[in-house]
This record gives sequence, C-alpha cells and structure tokens, in this order.
Amino acid sequence: MAMASLAFAPPKHDKLRALGIMALNGMFDEMDGVAVLRQAVADLLPGDIAIVSSFGADSSVLLHMVAEVDRALPVYFLETGKHFAETLAYVETLKAHLGLSNIRWLRPDPKDIARFDPRGDLWETDPDSCCHIRKTEPLDAELTGYGGWITGRKRYQTSERGVLPHFELTSDDRIKVNPLAYFSDTDVNAYKVAHGLPEHPLFAKGYKSIGCAPCTTIVAEGEDPRAGRWRGLNKKECGIHFDFNGAIAKPVATVEKNLFRDGAFIADPFRAWSEGDDLASVRYTHIPLKLFLENRDAVLGNPHPNGLLVSPGDRIEDAAADLGRFASIAVSFPGFNDGRGYSTARLIAERYRYQGELRAVGDVLMDQVPLMRRCGITAFVVTHAATRKALESGHLTTVNLFYQPVGVTEVPVGTRPFLRRAAEAETV
Ligand code: SF4
Repeated sequence: MAMASLAFAPPKHDKLRALGIMALNGMFDEMDGVAVLRQAVADLLPGDIAIVSSFGADSSVLLHMVAEVDRALPVYFLETGKHFAETLAYVETLKAHLGLSNIRWLRPDPKDIARFDPRGDLWETDPDSCCHIRKTEPLDAELTGYGGWITGRKRYQTSERGVLPHFELTSDDRIKVNPLAYFSDTDVNAYKVAHGLPEHPLFAKGYKSIGCAPCTTIVAEGEDPRAGRWRGLNKKECGIHFDFNGAIAKPVATVEKNLFRDGAFIADPFRAWSEGDDLASVRYTHIPLKLFLENRDAVLGNPHPNGLLVSPGDRIEDAAADLGRFASIAVSFPGFNDGRGYSTARLIAERYRYQGELRAVGDVLMDQVPLMRRCGITAFVVTHAATRKALESGHLTTVNLFYQPVGVTEVPVGTRPFLRRAAEAETV
C-alpha cells in the first residue's frame, strides 16, 4: 500500500479555528448548498479541497452544484470493484452531462485484496474490513493531501446524522463540508427535477441509496432510504464518515499507522486481544496462544480472519498444526534483552514454514529489526520514533557476519577460521 507521509505529532485542535467553524455554521445556517460550496471552494480552501462521490441515487444534486461552482474540482470515485455495472455507467453519464473535467477513480491496493479478500467474499463475512480495504484505505491515502473535503451527507438519512452541520472541523484539523446537510428527501427530488438531472438507472427499480452491489438492496415504500444498505447487519456507514468513538466528524485519516510492512507504514487491520472479547466472533484480533490452546474449537470455528499472539514462555510447538489457520502471527518482544522471540520466529518461519504475516510486537527497536528480519519476521509494529524514522528512510544497520547463522545462506564465523575468512572475503 502506498502511503502518504506520517504525522508524528498528535492532531491539535486550534480553538480559534474551531470557533471560526462555529461562526461559519451560524453565518451559513440559512444559506443554500451552492452558497456553502462556493464559500468552501473559493474562500475557505481554494485549491485545497476535493469531493468524494459515490455516484449513487442522489449524487447528481451535489455534483450539479460542483459544476456550478468549479467543473475542475477534483471528484473522487471509489471504484471498489464491487459496484453495479449501472453505477460505473452513471459515472460517465454525469461526467458528460455536467461537464466535470476532473473525476479521479480510486481503487483498492491489489496487495490488500490478495491478502485479505482473495476470493472476493469478504463483504459477506466481514463487511467492516471489506470497506476498510476497498474504501477507507484508498481514500485515506489520497485525502491526506487536502485541507478539507466535501460530502453529500444529509441529516435526514440516518439518526446518526441528525445533527450534521454545514462545516465540521475534524480531529486532524481538516474541514469537512456538507452542503446538503439540511436537504430533505423532497428537496433532493425537487432539485433533480428542477435541473433535469439524469437519474441513476437503478433508482426507478427501487434502489434509493446505492453502494456496492453485494451490500445494496431495494428499499420498500416508506422505508428509510438507507435501509437497503448492509441490510440485516448492524452497519450503517462504510467507515469513511463515522468515527470510532461515535462522533461523525473524524476521518479515518487520523488512524495511527504503526505497522511497517512491504516498505511502508500502514494502518494496522489487526487489534490486540481485550478482556471480554468473544473468541467465537472476534475479527482481526491477535488471540493469545494460551487462550487459543484452551479454546481451540471455538477459535477455529470463528469465520473471521484472526491472528495469534505468541509471548515468551509460550510453546509454539503446541499450536504447530494450526498455524496456517491464522492470517498473522505476532511474536512478542517485551524487552531489548529478551531474545526468546527470535527463536520462536525462527521455529515458525523455518520449521513450520508459516506463510502468513509474521510480525514483531512490543519493544521493537531499530537495532533489533535486522535481526528480526533474519529470523523471518516480515512486519513490525513500531511506536519508537527513531526506529520509525530509520525504517521510513531505509537507514538501518546491517549485519554481515554471523556467529549464530540462520537459514541456509548465512555462514557462521568466529569458531571456524576457514569459514570466517570465506565469509569476510564475500563481504569485501
Ligand atoms: S459496501 Fe460491501 S462490497 Fe462495498 S466495500 Fe463495503 S462491504 Fe465491501
């Protein structure tokens, strides 16, 4: 996953900025959507704002307003790979009809798809994770470059959005603009008619809120328009607009990216085990080895992707036959002077030939990383600032001479002079 640069400092709210947003909301309370949009695009964040559109049932309204204000405004469309063919065609229809000149398609990272959703059915077992890799991650990487973004959210859509303002200050000091916040269902339809906007081809068939095909169903007369999204699941948002702590403003861009893998820091799809978690239903969680051994059937019966946490003193041998059932194995390094994790990692990688992600967690410092890599560890959860910097810049110390060789390519030195001479000659 290509990722933008990291912000090491925690987001800081500028009180004046927050007050400014409150004042703006007061000033624009009575204003129409175009006025709100014009204020955002022309005055508040000129050249520093973009719009994200689903090209769904109501998207034409906001996109028409965008065309009124600036046809070259960047319009991002998340091509999740799961859309109806009609939606993809509708992107082209609206583009031509409104003269939008800057529509940008964002696609999920093929490596994420290969790793987390190789069969394309993650939406069925774990829709949150599916949305995460197909929507949140691609958008997150792109939107870090903007000071704000525009959404088509409306208060009436769900109870969670009932207090939506025109302007929001997000927890990482960006501005989110909701020109349609006060629009009702009737307003939307009236706007479409008044401006002769083409309908999404599925709207007439009863699809009132349109997202990815597997997660969208027809809505009955009188039903909440978004009731057709993720029907039957307690899920109403894709993670782009919804905050982990329940607030509506914080974009996922603020999620810390502590996992170093494939040459970049990324948002970690896994979490640590918490007291009270249910072994049969947790997802993307590293389950402690002891707990797994005591509850093997419940864990193996869990349909979601999970990981295993191996701590010093654990016997990985006891779980050897089941390692392939885990998408990730985390080896704990509780302290710099505790080397047991290296032996564990070697067992997992070399003896048991584990093919999934093998990660180091705990006290991961830069001098250890090359040694961890030698033992088969491919991912690192890193919070130590200097280590993060070294990994990002590729400036890590390397080890060329080995007293305790690993694998089949390293040559032992020190105890046998003829081998040491050979190894030294190789490194010159
Ligand atoms: S809406 Fe459904 S198919 Fe689309 S990304 Fe989310 S879970 Fe996956």
